[in-house]
Amino acid sequence: MNHEHWMEIALEEAKKGDYPYGAVLVKDNQIFVKGYNTTVRDNDVSAHAEINVLRSFTMGMKNYSLDILRGYTLYTTCEPCPMCAAACVWSGVSEIVYGASIQELIDMDIKQIDISCETLVKQGFQNIKVTPGILGHKCLELFKN
Ligand SMILES: [Zn+2]
Repeated sequence: MNHEHWMEIALEEAKKGDYPYGAVLVKDNQIFVKGYNTTVRDNDVSAHAEINVLRSFTMGMKNYSLDILRGYTLYTTCEPCPMCAAACVWSGVSEIVYGASIQELIDMDIKQIDISCETLVKQGFQNIKVTPGILGHKCLELFKN
């Protein structure tokens, strides 16, 4: 399975969101959790797709550690905001793969905090690979509907 395959699934999740953001957590060619933005229906400013995915997965685990997601890849339709990128650091996810960039969202007048995921991850204490630009145009298309 390639990055595009998993991003297509994240895109389907995004279509269910209060805002069109979707994410999936993958390890060993298997999906563990899918999720989308529920900020409006949950009245929760932190209910971004990535947070929802990380939270629902780790809450089901019996142990807590800063490496709880070692070996997992988080696919997300848009570049994680600083809150979500920080949650990735705190969970020790091994790779973040995203579609549209924060800059591309800003260029479309979508509210974002202008700190790149790569910048935040580099300031952290984990070794997280960041892969940008997977199906980015399709991720942006969802905001035009
Ligand atoms: Zn976020």
